[in-house]
Amino acid sequence: MEPYAGLLSKLAAERQPGFILAGATTRGTDIMGAASVDLRAGLLADVTEVSLDGGRVLATSPVYSGKLVATVTIPEPGDTPQLLTVRSRAFAAAERDASRSGEVETVEPALAEDDITVKVVGFEPAGNQVSLADAAIIVSGGRGVGGPEGFEPLRELAETLGAAIGASRAVVDAGWIPYEHQVGQTGKVVSPDLYIACGISGAVQHLAGMRTSKVIVAINSDPEAPIFKVAHYGIVGDLFEIVPALNEAFKQRLS
Ligand SMILES: Cc1cc2nc3c(=O)[nH]c(=O)nc-3n(C[C@H](O)[C@H](O)[C@H](O)COP(=O)(O)OP(=O)(O)OC[C@H]3O[C@@H](n4cnc5c(N)ncnc54)[C@H](O)[C@@H]3O)c2cc1C
Repeated sequence: MEPYAGLLSKLAAERQPGFILAGATTRGTDIMGAASVDLRAGLLADVTEVSLDGGRVLATSPVYSGKLVATVTIPEPGDTPQLLTVRSRAFAAAERDASRSGEVETVEPALAEDDITVKVVGFEPAGNQVSLADAAIIVSGGRGVGGPEGFEPLRELAETLGAAIGASRAVVDAGWIPYEHQVGQTGKVVSPDLYIACGISGAVQHLAGMRTSKVIVAINSDPEAPIFKVAHYGIVGDLFEIVPALNEAFKQRLS
């Protein structure tokens, strides 16, 4: 993170852009946080809507685990750039405008290797799974799946739909699925077109990660489960009957 943040701060100081945008991913959040300190510039984080008020940005971002939506601004940006991190998939792709073009420029690093205090010493590829942040559809499982093997019908449905697999913290903590699948306050924040919550009660910390999904379908055997309060479509019943039935129906429809 340091080399990217150092370079971003150096380029911003030299070229003085009005605005700098990055995705509100783990890396985007780290880099922009560090750059905002270096540049002594304001940062609007995890933005889901923007408008301009003169030269000032008015940004909307969910706060308190999505319970409130705050409108925030940098009151006196002065000569410093206004920094924004933008929630993945919160904005529709813009229409292509052939009259506008950009140039990709290669720049030299700002830090020498010895100045960097953290080094990558190895990594393991995560395989060919669909990434949660980019997925248009997420099939997510909670404690209602009953155990690691309970994710199998969800994986089959996800394969039919080209979806990513999400999870509640309860099942991650239980070791049924790795942390990279966790959605929520202490996991990933996602905004897919379709979020199918299977056997998830809908705790506020889970909702913090998925309540901005465009369409939410909840499958739960308890008609009083809080997830139904945010769901656009609710199915009350046993996920082990409903998920395979949905999978068959989607397979027929999509074939
Ligand atoms: C500081 C903090 C941070 C947290 N961060 C997160 C986070 O990032 N993400 C997160 O998810 N949680 C988070 N939590 C935990 C959160 O409070 C809940 O404990 C957790 O979300 C519950 O997971 P669950 O819905 O899978 O389990 P449960 O609450 O146990 O719900 C299981 C649901 O499955 C249903 N069910 C059972 N069997 C079936 C079946 N056969 N068919 C259909 N439905 C069935 C039940 O009716 C129930 O509603 C956090 C908690 C704290 C304190």
